Amino acid sequence: MVNEDAKKVWDYLDEHKDEYIELLKKFCAQPSVSAQNWGMREMAEMVRDTVTELGGNGTLIETDGNPFVYGMIDNGAKRTLTLYNHYDVVPPEPYELWNTPPFEPTIIDGRLYARGSSDNKVSLLSRYIAVDAYQKVLGKLPINIKFLAEGEEEIGSPHLMQFIHDNMDKVQSDGIVWEGGSRVTNGPLIVHMGVKGVTTFSIKCSHPKNGSSPMWRLIWALNSMKNADDYITIDHFNDSIAELTDYEKEFVHKAVYEEEATLKRNGIDHFIRSLTGEALKDKLYSEPSMNIQGLFFDEIDETTGMPKSAEVKIDIRTVPNQNPDEMMQQIRDHLAAHGFDDLEVCGGHSTLPYRGKPDSLLARAVIKNVEAAYGEPPIVLLMTPGSCGMARVVKATGIPIVHYGCMDDSSKAHAPNESADLNHYIRGAKLSVLMFQDFATLE
Ligand SMILES: [Zn+2]
Repeated sequence: MVNEDAKKVWDYLDEHKDEYIELLKKFCAQPSVSAQNWGMREMAEMVRDTVTELGGNGTLIETDGNPFVYGMIDNGAKRTLTLYNHYDVVPPEPYELWNTPPFEPTIIDGRLYARGSSDNKVSLLSRYIAVDAYQKVLGKLPINIKFLAEGEEEIGSPHLMQFIHDNMDKVQSDGIVWEGGSRVTNGPLIVHMGVKGVTTFSIKCSHPKNGSSPMWRLIWALNSMKNADDYITIDHFNDSIAELTDYEKEFVHKAVYEEEATLKRNGIDHFIRSLTGEALKDKLYSEPSMNIQGLFFDEIDETTGMPKSAEVKIDIRTVPNQNPDEMMQQIRDHLAAHGFDDLEVCGGHSTLPYRGKPDSLLARAVIKNVEAAYGEPPIVLLMTPGSCGMARVVKATGIPIVHYGCMDDSSKAHAPNESADLNHYIRGAKLSVLMFQDFATLE
């Protein structure tokens, strides 16, 4: 049962649904393509003005790239929640694949079609309209809210960490609702709170020690690093991996994984090790994986017919508590110990893994209320196989992060005909209303 106060706010959201949809249309009609530097300032100002209208004193904080929008509703409350979103979108091309123009928001069968509708404007506004409706109906929120929106998420958030280091006071809070978040179309909401990390590196062979082809040297070395059952066999590689606790396993096993559809989509008849069910999910969510991106050579030596040097590019999807620097050292030590001291390991870039904490205040305040807003309990993922910068933020701030948002499996984010489900938009706001209340009171 939803409490009386929340019910009043929910009614307000329903009664003003059309206005809120108009606001979303206005946001989607404004191009904000960071990769093409198109409309960024105008979009930032639109977000800033919306934050100001909510009582948050919106300001633009300049960086060497696109500005951050920041604002705060300070109610002198005990707890503060940060709403982190992004106002940039990916490029709309190729135009010819769109059924409606990407920056002319069009509603068809309850979905709003536009570039950026689902990623991330619907989630951003769903949170903002929850604040709006709450304040209009009940006055002060029981918590303080910090609004933070960046304009470079789709180009890798190059200034996010700098911003956080320079503005720790503006991020400091008891929980961060992260951008994005999705739902099985017309099905359960997915609450997720962590990501795998990624570490890229390359191994080079320029001076094969026994006159073999540099390409063979790499192939033999690679063969010692992973076996045909997809187990990584680098010495000591698995020592630091934090195993799932029984509590965490419960969440992993409850996650939905569409085995049949995935097999079909990839044209394969079984997964590696013939895994299925819980074991397959354990692997997906808690085991690192290592991928060869490609093997390259520069030039063929005409006298020997061998490449003069060769290189392999690799990425590893990491899990807690794997550390990129430690891993690079393990790989170097492994190669040396197996006779490959003529190979050179060059580190690339890394994002860190982070497994979320379902017992954090924010996670509990979200999870507890999903069934009331959506009619069924959520799928809770402590970590998703994708990678993003959120772990860096948790590491830098120590603040727990949760994603729950208004995309769904039909949204086609980043693709032509991107769309957002408008009922999901309002339900998301209703969930936020309940979350605000519990975020203030849960012990
Ligand atoms: Zn995106």
